Parts: sequence; structure tokens; C-alpha cells
Amino acid sequence: MPLLTLRHYPDPILRQKAKTVDLKDPRLAGIVRDLFETMYHESGVGLAANQVGLDLNLAVIDCSGGEDGNAKLVLINPVVLATTGTVEEDEGCLSFPGVRAVARRGERCRVRAVDLEGRAYEVEAGGLLGKALQHETDHLSGKLFIDHLTLASRASVEGKLKQMKKDAKPGKSGARA
Ligand code: ZN
Repeated sequence: MPLLTLRHYPDPILRQKAKTVDLKDPRLAGIVRDLFETMYHESGVGLAANQVGLDLNLAVIDCSGGEDGNAKLVLINPVVLATTGTVEEDEGCLSFPGVRAVARRGERCRVRAVDLEGRAYEVEAGGLLGKALQHETDHLSGKLFIDHLTLASRASVEGKLKQMKKDAKPGKSGARA
């Protein structure tokens, strides 16, 4: 199974609102399988399709690191129904290798989505899963965790973000467009 190539900040696809998934798309099962595989390989707890260059409103989450089959979530066309409370916690993102910073998030989050079998479901959670739900649904609307940083935290990663932008400039090898 091929691992998918991660898109890193500031790849423009990370700022795009992802396209609605057609549930009849025959590629879906394969894409979901590859997303999980890539996410486990990178030791992430969630991965959105646009992070691997696919313009699809689709993400996967597993906060158990592959230990618990029931923890695997496929979120197709997810919608955030509610977020409540506020927490400030350390966060990272596979599209920002080496960057960790304190983000302000809702304490709990409720999301409606469709699974791979085409069934609509709702999930509500706090803790790591609650954060992952917010982080991944954000990705699919073109938002990133750096949009939620506390002021002090933002200042602490500003240099790194500037460097990432510089490294991605056209002309450098591996430039992404
Ligand atoms: Zn992310």
C-alpha cells in the first residue's frame, strides 16, 4: 500500500475549503485505507485528505495509535454541530513538522459525519479526541492550528513559520505549488 505524501505549510491546498465527497466515489475505500496507513506511519492521531493533496472533504482519526479498532473514525463531509468550553493545550500538526504550540480550542466538540458505509453518525468528545475533531474539521475548511495559537505561543513559532515559507519558495528543490 502506498504511503501518501504529506503537504507541508504553506502549501496552498491547506488553505482551501475541501470539496464535498461523492459517497459513490469508487476510490473512497482505498483513499481511506491509505490515509490511515499514512497517519499511523507518521504517528499522527488524525489526517485530513487535503494534507495529502486530495481536494476531498474527508478525514480520518484514531487516538489509540492503531491499538483499538473501535477508535478508528472515518469522517466524510463532517459538520461541527457545537463546541463548548475553552482549553489551551500544546498541539502539533503533520503539515508543520517540528512545530508545537499552545492552541486555544473548545473543551468539547460535537460533529456529524458520514462513515465509509454511507451511514450518518454523530460523535461528541473532549480530551484528545475532542481536539482531533476540531483540528481535522478545521483542515477541511482551510483552517490551521496556527490560527488558534495564544499570543505568546504565536510569537514563539513565528520564526519557524517564516523559515517554512522561505524554504517553500519556487526554485528550491521540491517546491510545491
Ligand atoms: Zn493538522
